[in-house]
Amino acid sequence: MSDETFPEIRDAVRRLCADFPGSYWQALDRDRTYPTEFVRALTEAGFLSVLIPEEFGGSGLGLGAATAILEEIHRSGCNGGACHAQMYTMGTLLKHGSAEQKAKYLPGVADGSLRLQAFGVTEPTAGTDTTRIRTFAQREGDHYVVSGQKIWISRAEHSDLMVLLCRTTPREECARSSDGMSVLLVDMREAVGNGLTIRPIRTMLNHATTELFFDDLKVPVENLIGEEGKGFRYILSGMNAERILIAAECIGDAKFFIDRAAAYAKERSVFGRAIGSNQGIQFPIARAYVQMNAAALVVADAAAKFEAGQPCGTEANMAKMVASEASWFAADMCIQTHGGFGFAEEYDIERKFRETRLYQVAPISTNLILSHVGTHVLGMPKSF
Ligand SMILES: Cc1cc2nc3c(=O)[nH]c(=O)nc-3n(C[C@H](O)[C@H](O)[C@H](O)COP(=O)(O)OP(=O)(O)OC[C@H]3O[C@@H](n4cnc5c(N)ncnc54)[C@H](O)[C@@H]3O)c2cc1C
Repeated sequence: MSDETFPEIRDAVRRLCADFPGSYWQALDRDRTYPTEFVRALTEAGFLSVLIPEEFGGSGLGLGAATAILEEIHRSGCNGGACHAQMYTMGTLLKHGSAEQKAKYLPGVADGSLRLQAFGVTEPTAGTDTTRIRTFAQREGDHYVVSGQKIWISRAEHSDLMVLLCRTTPREECARSSDGMSVLLVDMREAVGNGLTIRPIRTMLNHATTELFFDDLKVPVENLIGEEGKGFRYILSGMNAERILIAAECIGDAKFFIDRAAAYAKERSVFGRAIGSNQGIQFPIARAYVQMNAAALVVADAAAKFEAGQPCGTEANMAKMVASEASWFAADMCIQTHGGFGFAEEYDIERKFRETRLYQVAPISTNLILSHVGTHVLGMPKSF
């Protein structure tokens, strides 16, 4: 169904991904190393700058095109998690940055000479309750001095710039808990070793995620994005794009699992017939297909609302939830269809299974989406 949108872009992405087969990803996964060549190829082909307006060197396309790109990457067995932030993190700068900041940074982000891959929000003690972040930026003359800690900040070691959310006024001194936070653009090339330490975290998937320690890091005041104290709402507006794009990756993952399972079910013969002729095998594959298509419609609706500039917080959340559940159902089904071979590294299914599991937790967990729908949409009382 969603294959009908942007056929030329999808075809070009598929051809690029064909140069990065399972063996490429398996080797990286084993060593937990970054797919530098894959990210370079996507950058050179212009796929990571589609959301940047033409005046800054991008192709000025909408979110629908970006969803098509990430979906195809994932359907091909590749992983856009290594670089998807280069697409949307610049949205905070584009929407809320000054003319000088945009002119200074966006052309470099568009041509890939500046990697804007890191987005620093989560902290160990705050968790999902972002208003309780404690990383603090104290203004001292023409600098902010940043101290604190972040966790799960992906791609920090592979990024030249980071969009960082920190407190500039203590929570207790703010009228609303979401006030008093600000967004700084941190130049990682200057920061590492001068107040910023990056510590990689080994996880069940190859995601280049890290822990960050800020120890009196100096950030020039000119790197403040928008107004001081309004950072939380700037970050929220960027999160809708992130959720929709990650939902598209989940649709791609679901298609990968369905393609693989259907092919294997037709070819694998046990008890003298194809396993796919047994309804116990066939129906879960068909169910995964139905669920994926239903989720794809929700993702397309959220992307259309985002592109039209309409409020889409609820749609973006719902898209991420149903798409991540569709991909997880498909992943589990695909392992089951393959029997023992589903666990073999060379089939790529166990790797994709681990990769797609992330998206029920990050960038926002399912419970928090349900809480948003329960309270903001259905008007039920809040539990927190
Ligand atoms: C591999 C990876 C990469 C990541 N990359 C980034 C990144 O680049 N930048 C970044 O800023 N963050 C990143 N994150 C962090 C991610 O966004 C968070 O892990 C996620 O939002 C969940 O937050 P938490 O881990 O603090 O869970 P917690 O907030 O501690 O929640 C734990 C569990 O409790 C549930 N829960 C909490 N409160 C409630 C409630 N009131 N009602 C019901 N259930 C509740 C949650 O749903 C969750 O299941 C990444 C995480 C991972 C694992």
